[in-house]
Amino acid sequence: MNNRYYGRLIFELSKSGRTSYSLPANEFKSNSLDKLPSALVRKSKTILPEVDELTVVRHYTNMSNNNFGVDTGFYPLGSCTMKYNPKINDEISALPQFTALHPLQPAYTVQGALEVYYNVQQSLAEIAGMSEFTLNPYAGAHGELTGLMTIKTYHERRGDTKRTKIIVPNSAHGTNPASAAVCGFEIVEVKSTADGTVDVADLKPLLNDEIAGMMMTNPNTLGIFEKEIPEIAALVHACGGLMYYDGANLNPMLGVCRPGDMGFDVMHINLHKTFSTPHGGGGPGSGPVGVRKGLEQYLPVPHVKKDADGHFFVDFGNNALGSISQFFGNFAVVLRAYAYLLTLGKENIKMVGPLSVLNANYVKEQLKSHYLLPIQGLCKHEFVFDGLLDKSTGVTTLDVAKRLLDYGFHAPTIYFPLLFHEAMMIEPTENESKDTLDEFIATLKTVAEEAISDPDMVKSAPHSTPVRRLDDVKAVKEPHFTFKDYLQ
Ligand SMILES: *Cc1c(COP(=O)(O)O)cnc(C)c1O
Repeated sequence: MNNRYYGRLIFELSKSGRTSYSLPANEFKSNSLDKLPSALVRKSKTILPEVDELTVVRHYTNMSNNNFGVDTGFYPLGSCTMKYNPKINDEISALPQFTALHPLQPAYTVQGALEVYYNVQQSLAEIAGMSEFTLNPYAGAHGELTGLMTIKTYHERRGDTKRTKIIVPNSAHGTNPASAAVCGFEIVEVKSTADGTVDVADLKPLLNDEIAGMMMTNPNTLGIFEKEIPEIAALVHACGGLMYYDGANLNPMLGVCRPGDMGFDVMHINLHKTFSTPHGGGGPGSGPVGVRKGLEQYLPVPHVKKDADGHFFVDFGNNALGSISQFFGNFAVVLRAYAYLLTLGKENIKMVGPLSVLNANYVKEQLKSHYLLPIQGLCKHEFVFDGLLDKSTGVTTLDVAKRLLDYGFHAPTIYFPLLFHEAMMIEPTENESKDTLDEFIATLKTVAEEAISDPDMVKSAPHSTPVRRLDDVKAVKEPHFTFKDYLQ
């Protein structure tokens, strides 16, 4: 679509003196600026766009059309679970009965909100096989940090101060070692076997009385179920460490198996992935943390409990980790998760895992004739190709990802995990119809054929997007955040 608003900054549409509002004249004699210390008063006028209301509306509407989202097209971004977020979740989280609450209201005036908290805490504990959950953390990485802080507090309270190391598989999501480092742990890397799972033989010599715990993602970032978990958990426990489960992508496990039953002690869940809150672009999120029996007192506060008189806040006395967020975490996301849980119900939630696994395996099997599948066999909710099968064309994973944009599909996650050079990680989620999956499969096959018949065209894709190939490094090193920067 092309019109005069398209692709232009609002500053470029500005006309001096044009406004979108009319305010009554200042009826007070004084100018409030007189009362500000002169050092704080601007020396020159701020540069702001001067536009009429209709221009503002068109500017933002055109900008929103440049966006790609789950609501506009298929979004197979591996490790991100870009599933459909039912609109009723948003409607419920926007109810004024919830949005108008103040976080400092006494508990007896907010029983409904506390009931939502309590029910989500309990539901997650049941789904994950854990004893207790906190809803305080704001994101997956924040959940990891909180979970690792509980592990640290657990060891410290036992007077076991030697445990300064955390074991992390080399296939782990980048947030795992980052969170462990932020928590003050030293990271010990454990290798993967050729089939992409944790190498137990490599793990054994790493275990000693300095190990505070081990982080695992299951299914791991390759979408493979870690079959050796019982043995790994027994080994880590025998050396005195705790097992941490990165449950950011709990999707394939829903209704099938529970981390608590596998021997994990602490875990987090991303409500903004598995439990259906729109995410991407930095928020909003929620990364609840669950613990097994015996570790409840190390969770952060506040926490919601229930007795005969209703719901109330507790802190865990002297043993508590303290607080890791403002008030109670991201309530609007918790509300969406609750709406999602109730919409599906206990029976239907059990379909999420099997359907997400079925969709991923369907796409994988259809495409392995054209793309290199380094790890054969059943995957869980996602899988990884190592680029095109035919390596002679010089067309890379990046090129394929860019070409997909021309066909109206979001690119998969690329160049992660780091175990393969041309990684292309695809996660269809349980929501997509077979028709959408078939179109996606056909398109990826077309791109593979184009890579042979016209490699230069694929290498110069995308051809139909508002901008072509951006300089990723420059965007990080020299970001222009304001119009003034843009002018320079
Ligand atoms: C997304 C993800 C995280 C991090 O979650 P954020 O909410 O982005 O901080 C951690 N681990 C895995 C496996 C993930 O997919």
